[in-house]
Amino acid sequence: MENSTIAAIATPGGRGGIGIIKISGSRALGIASALFHPAASQSAIQFDRPGQTIDDSGDRFKSHRLHYGHIIDPGSQRVLDEVLLSVMKAPRSYTREDVVEINTHGGRIAVNAIFEAVLRQGARIAEPGEFTKRAFLNGRIDLIQAEAVIDAINARTEKSLHLAAAQIRGTLSRSVEQIRQHLIGLLTRTEAVIDFPDDVDDIIDSGTEIAKLEKEVLQPLKNLIQKHIDGNVLRDGLKVAVVGRPNVGKSSLLNCLVQKERAIVTAVPGTTRDAVEEAINMKGLPVRLVDTAGLHDTSDPIETIGIEKTIENFNRADLVLFLVEANRKLTAQDYKIFEQLQSKPTIVLVNKIDLVNSQENVEFPASWSSFKCLRISALYDLGIEALKEEIAAIAFGKDPLEIETDIIPNLRQKMLLEDTLQAIQAMIGEFNNGQPMELIAIHLQDSIDALGQILGTTVKVDVLDEIFSRFCIGK
Ligand code: GDP
Repeated sequence: MENSTIAAIATPGGRGGIGIIKISGSRALGIASALFHPAASQSAIQFDRPGQTIDDSGDRFKSHRLHYGHIIDPGSQRVLDEVLLSVMKAPRSYTREDVVEINTHGGRIAVNAIFEAVLRQGARIAEPGEFTKRAFLNGRIDLIQAEAVIDAINARTEKSLHLAAAQIRGTLSRSVEQIRQHLIGLLTRTEAVIDFPDDVDDIIDSGTEIAKLEKEVLQPLKNLIQKHIDGNVLRDGLKVAVVGRPNVGKSSLLNCLVQKERAIVTAVPGTTRDAVEEAINMKGLPVRLVDTAGLHDTSDPIETIGIEKTIENFNRADLVLFLVEANRKLTAQDYKIFEQLQSKPTIVLVNKIDLVNSQENVEFPASWSSFKCLRISALYDLGIEALKEEIAAIAFGKDPLEIETDIIPNLRQKMLLEDTLQAIQAMIGEFNNGQPMELIAIHLQDSIDALGQILGTTVKVDVLDEIFSRFCIGK
């Protein structure tokens, strides 16, 4: 099955300037030959220039060239479209197989007709991510790089894209490989001690070995795990819940931040019944804002559903914006909502400051003093820039533009890094307790396997299937 030739429409549906059909596999060139008819002028350029042979393999297509011509349906002899054909012969291609890409005019009709003709010539429809899976299985990229391709496709902001691009270049792979090589070296020496105890007894000095492990393995592992935590928001977006009793201005704040009328704003308390989520790009970082129905008691069944959703959203939030009104004393409802905030990172927002003079402050109980408090007017866009800066500072601990984005493991990778860390810590424990080398070797092997799963050298088939199924068709 892996040897079959696959094809997919690589461009999104709908109208566009061009459409691309991608073919990969041993029959890719044969299929192109059957369908493609070069324009007369191009054959002269491609094949007949002095000193240029047709091709090493004698076939019609020179590799890494664009060929101009037409796709003609062999059955009906109808011209399906005028096209540019790019040919990348194995192994210098995305999949390391022969790859042909047909650039047609955009619009479903031409693209579909050519795609069907390609399938009739014996290609089968590619599964999601199958091109990248082949690149991985054929050893062109490792699993970290393959996963980064999905991230690049899904990137919502420049920062996320920058991160994915670094991963595709192999930045994380190199760090993981370095740690793995250190452990493989240690395992080799451990096995030598096991096999030849009399000859090589002194090649492992536990003191030096543990110091080296700390520096070369434990510290780098801990750094990578921390980077996952820091960088998670870059990848998935920071989830910010906007809470407060009805009419404090939650929807108005959301509108102000999103700068378009999306949530329904009214003066009737409790009208924002459904949680509305908006993704915004805050200084290059993805932020997902959730406006809520307000955490308050109600007997209205529709509102009750809204409130349940609120609590659900609120529980998943990374940061809470808790709104109160500048022109009123705190109410029992405000206190009640506050009680539910518990340990969530929270910014208290005193809204509607346009209705009070600048000296007037809402009195807060002492227990609120640990929260950052900002004065804003959602309606008149006052204090909103300061709020955005505060969100970034709380979420990232520093200016988001300064975050080092080159290496950030995803959740799967982070969990395997943690497995590795645990195995090494257990191994050091055994070392210190003078346990036999056989036990040390088992922990070492476990840690090397975990790192291998990150890189894809020892990964299980079902994990691979799960990873590649997250791709879109045609990549
Ligand atoms: P929600 O129920 O918490 O979503 O509150 P809304 O956003 O629907 O706002 C309720 C009312 O307060 C609306 O009439 C808004 O125009 C008004 N409002 C919201 N923010 C401000 C503000 O900063 N200043 C003033 N004066 N009115 C505001």
